Amino acid sequence: MIEAVRNKTREVRIGDLLIGAEHPVAVQSMTTTDTKDFDQTLKEVKALEEAGCELIRVAFLNAKAKDALAEIKRQMKVPLVVDIHFTAHLALVAMEVGADKIRINPGNLGGEDKLDKILEMARDKGVAIRIGVNSGSVEQDLLEKYGYPCSDAIVESALRWVEYCENRNFYNMVLSLKSSNVQTAVESYQKISQECDYPLHVGITEAGYGQYAKVKSAAGIGTILMQGIGNTIRASLMGDPVEEVKLCYDILKATGVRVTGPELIACPTCGRIQIDLGELVDKVSERIKGVKEPIKISVLGCPVNGPGEAREADIGIAGGNGKGWIYRDGAVVKTVPEAQLVDALEDEIKVFLAQREAARQIRLKS
Ligand code: SF4
Repeated sequence: MIEAVRNKTREVRIGDLLIGAEHPVAVQSMTTTDTKDFDQTLKEVKALEEAGCELIRVAFLNAKAKDALAEIKRQMKVPLVVDIHFTAHLALVAMEVGADKIRINPGNLGGEDKLDKILEMARDKGVAIRIGVNSGSVEQDLLEKYGYPCSDAIVESALRWVEYCENRNFYNMVLSLKSSNVQTAVESYQKISQECDYPLHVGITEAGYGQYAKVKSAAGIGTILMQGIGNTIRASLMGDPVEEVKLCYDILKATGVRVTGPELIACPTCGRIQIDLGELVDKVSERIKGVKEPIKISVLGCPVNGPGEAREADIGIAGGNGKGWIYRDGAVVKTVPEAQLVDALEDEIKVFLAQREAARQIRLKS
């Protein structure tokens, strides 16, 4: 797979996490609980960390949540992002208790003096700020100029705030330009990436729910990532935020932007199917749970088109009529009794990974 070349951006520090520049695209999500409810919020935070979430955002609506926020930060392993709307002083409180990044919409904080205090404290404490502009936050004069919150209006709004922050010597910024319209979001990210070099947080806002929300998020985030744009991503799904993390990693894997483990692909099946493919895929996916390196494995329902259909994978397997076949580079390398196919695949994966590592070591030495 040809990996998308990443757009060069400046580096931004969020707690211990560096984003932008050469750093991998990081996965973000957001808790759904009332932050005052410490137990439930921490439970979600821990589930997100366990799922591989690298940046966790929580809403901070009320000073009553200060103690919970402070304790959550103490118990978190990944950087804390605090979401602030309308109440500027809560951003200061969040930074006092250790927030690593503050997400704001600068236009709704009640005036420049309040925004300036946030920027000053963030600069002093080394806290990053995400300037979040979206189609619903575009200023009135830009709506009048463009007629509707099109990508040009969103980008102009974002650039205004960038200039505002730079005029106050604040540069530790991440930008997001979200829209629930995929085309508008894609255009906005394309345009802003030509205009400035701040890292970009990418997402499709209010993507909907269920299967459609996943498809819409994948279409939007995937399209943007494939153009080399984006430094952190979040899939906004209704429900358990752990699903957002899983989807983000799947988008990163499917686009080849960041592959963190095996990719299992299966043929769609057809009238030639000779095996219970669902059962075979389940067995294979169970067996490769411990594999942490990228490897593409295809599972085929019959050997008829095996060589062709396995060519895109590192290793392919097919089974039927009591036999199992293992493919490398589209050619059969082993034939085994069907009952031994999954064991044979596991052995072949070990051989493949060992050979690849040996080749890597030789390249490093030469
Ligand atoms: Fe059909 Fe066999 Fe191709 Fe699967 S591998 S789609 S069963 S021809």
